Amino acid sequence: MGDARTERAHSRTRLAVARPSARAAGALSRRVRGGSGLVIGGRVLLAVEPRALPELSRGRDVTLVSGTNGKSTTTALIVAALGAGDDVATNREGANTATALAGLLASTEAEEVVLEVDEDWLPWAIRETSPRTVVLTNLSRDQLTRHHEVGALAETWRSGLAGVPLVIANADDPAVVWSALAGHNHVWVAAGANWTADSLVCPACGGRCVRAGSDWACDSCELRRPDPDWWLDGDVLRCATTQAPLTLDLPGRFNVANAALAVTAAHITGGVPVSEAAARLGVVRSVAGRFEQVRFHGHDLRIMLAKNPAGWLELLDLMADDRYPLVLVLNAEGVDGRDPSWIYDVSFRPLRGRTVVVQGRRATDLLVRLEHDGVAARHIPGSLAAALWKLPAGRVDVVGNYTAFRAAVQEVRRA
Ligand SMILES: [Zn+2]
Repeated sequence: MGDARTERAHSRTRLAVARPSARAAGALSRRVRGGSGLVIGGRVLLAVEPRALPELSRGRDVTLVSGTNGKSTTTALIVAALGAGDDVATNREGANTATALAGLLASTEAEEVVLEVDEDWLPWAIRETSPRTVVLTNLSRDQLTRHHEVGALAETWRSGLAGVPLVIANADDPAVVWSALAGHNHVWVAAGANWTADSLVCPACGGRCVRAGSDWACDSCELRRPDPDWWLDGDVLRCATTQAPLTLDLPGRFNVANAALAVTAAHITGGVPVSEAAARLGVVRSVAGRFEQVRFHGHDLRIMLAKNPAGWLELLDLMADDRYPLVLVLNAEGVDGRDPSWIYDVSFRPLRGRTVVVQGRRATDLLVRLEHDGVAARHIPGSLAAALWKLPAGRVDVVGNYTAFRAAVQEVRRA
């Protein structure tokens, strides 16, 4: 014990010495190369003190946010709901490597820390930052080559979450509930589940998860939907004692679900009154370029990211009543995952009768997929501008998976 204390004292000393150099290196990198400079700063810190992250997290109120979809938005909404501005440290661009997080925490004295964490990194981030609260949105298949199995991920989550003081979790997702149960205390939010194809099998015993309306239960073990502490009634978030309307400047049902988790988290971790937390959500209009509305080449564009079947389902739902043209862009490289066959798990039928253009490295795959669903689409290779050139002026929705989305945002920002 004494050794551990001495080691911690040494670690603190090394960090105190390294922090000014890390800040200087970060500032220099910011000036020379642009960007935040946090990664460079983090690299300096970790070179001097490999255990920088636990030390920098000590004494702070850390909240981690994870899940397949909605983690960036939920993180941004929690920060907005807390209403504390610069007094909250957050990884706005979603960077969650050890270097980026160390750089971020060294750059601020903020007591409250809200971090978005990739599903695969959650157990690691919990070990490193000892969060007081973990917020979980949902768990579904992402790119096939990256997360082979939802069950395996749920299992690593469950062991990683053991001993976490508080887990605020979506009660409508069986894999999330089963993992969250490993935490000490739980707050269940009925945030909804649009995509249920990945939760037919019970994560606890391999039995069958049976759904009836919004309820679900395993037919062979004890796992069932917990009674929600918070739930949505239309756009109104309710609990036993209070309620507040969620007024968002972000589209879609799934964002209302993200907002429900965010307001609950800000209320419980930050003590913000529910109505105040809810009223602050409107300041979030776009998250790392997502849902951004821009004027580009004579069109009013809305650019959206859909990187897995659940994400596409959410966006197709969102666009179901719209009639204006759509540009769908599909790539299959690096972070997208190499195997785009998951597009066969999504029904594109809601797009029948719409003007649809496909682009991207895997445009042909998408074209064939759309044809199967009776959607007549056109392949226009090249830039986004090339596609828009062929479309009537006015509104256009652009949906892409990860690298495709990023390229679209970059093209629009360069203009
Ligand atoms: Zn079961």
